[in-house]
Amino acid sequence: MDVARLRQSFAQVAAHGDEVPLFFYADLFIKHPEVRDMFPISMQAQRGHLVDALVKIVSHVDRAEELTVFLQGLGRDHRKFGVIAEHYEAVGASLLATIEHFSGPAWTPELQNDWQTAYHLIGTVMVAAARADEQVRPPWWKGTVVSHERRSFDISVLHVQPESPIDYLPGQSVAIESPSRPRLWRYYSMANAPRQDGKLEFHVRLIDGGAVSMALTSSSIVGTEVRLGAPIGVLTLDQPPADRNLLLVAGSTGLAPLKAIVDQATALPKPPQVHLFFGARTAEGLYDLDSLEKLAAEHAWLTVTPAVSADPRFTGETGNLLDVVARHGDWSGYDAYVAGPSQMVQDATARLASAGMAQDHIHIEDFGWSEP
Ligand SMILES: Cc1cc2nc3c(=O)[nH]c(=O)nc-3n(C[C@H](O)[C@H](O)[C@H](O)COP(=O)(O)OP(=O)(O)OC[C@H]3O[C@@H](n4cnc5c(N)ncnc54)[C@H](O)[C@@H]3O)c2cc1C
Repeated sequence: MDVARLRQSFAQVAAHGDEVPLFFYADLFIKHPEVRDMFPISMQAQRGHLVDALVKIVSHVDRAEELTVFLQGLGRDHRKFGVIAEHYEAVGASLLATIEHFSGPAWTPELQNDWQTAYHLIGTVMVAAARADEQVRPPWWKGTVVSHERRSFDISVLHVQPESPIDYLPGQSVAIESPSRPRLWRYYSMANAPRQDGKLEFHVRLIDGGAVSMALTSSSIVGTEVRLGAPIGVLTLDQPPADRNLLLVAGSTGLAPLKAIVDQATALPKPPQVHLFFGARTAEGLYDLDSLEKLAAEHAWLTVTPAVSADPRFTGETGNLLDVVARHGDWSGYDAYVAGPSQMVQDATARLASAGMAQDHIHIEDFGWSEP
């Protein structure tokens, strides 16, 4: 398998934008109408999810360990849709048909072989992880929303009590389905490390017109039974933690997975130095600052720097979050953990890499969309 050729081919196909997932799902549903019921009525957001997953896979294709962990999570997570091994063949065939269609004359037997090999590896890892998971865990958990607190006009903090504790690593996320939005699953990151009582904290930003975030940020969500998928994500500390300090960069609710990592660090016998940068557009968007400052006052190893980009009244750090991070040090000797909107995550990765941080010291969770 030629990784460079595969990446180049993906870039060429992805340039066709939304046409790519449109073609893929049309091909899949024509050839396998029986799988249509596994998807939501409106496929708009689903199309983005396919592309996001492919982007993640292709960008990690030369980072075998991280990619394997990601794919294993994805395989376990897909159990919630009722996906079984036969579906992987159907998806693989439609994926190849889609790539062939958009590759035009660039589609050669060698390229076909690259994609077949890559998809075979992806499918094998996902199916194996799903099968192993069937022995030990349900495809999804029921959870009851036990509290809802509106922290700013568009951000709410929720606590969910799952029916039984979910085994996850701090920094990971689960897909949530609310009963008012059947079959629309969206990922949200746990904001706490696993607790004895199993309770999970989520920070949810209301997206205007967003199907699931609107349901979850309504105060009437308290008492609702939601479904929670298997934990996914590789924004996690090494086990055991490497002897390096941590630079955490959170944009908006990207704070959630990083706060879980801070929570994890509080239980370590010898926590590393942790510098958490928390950015928002306005001071109101720093929705969890009180709790972070309290943590920093309790733990000498933790420094919290809030920053806002579009609020001249703010008396602390102002400007682009990444400029603020750059002003505070060169960060050699640190591992970076970055979470939040796509653009911020991509810019952070590029800037840290060009400042000399090795790729395997940069850990990211990209929440998808960026603010216009
Ligand atoms: C691994 C992962 C972890 C995540 N963790 C969190 C988290 O902890 N907290 C959190 O609030 N979100 C998180 N997200 C984002 C979340 O999964 C949803 O994408 C978001 O809540 C929007 O879902 P929705 O159903 O409300 O909107 P949708 O119905 O999916 O989208 C409606 C429209 O809103 C726009 N849109 C969608 N998402 C965004 C966005 N994030 N910003 C701006 N515009 C958008 C698009 O134009 C879209 O067409 C995470 C995403 C991923 C991939």
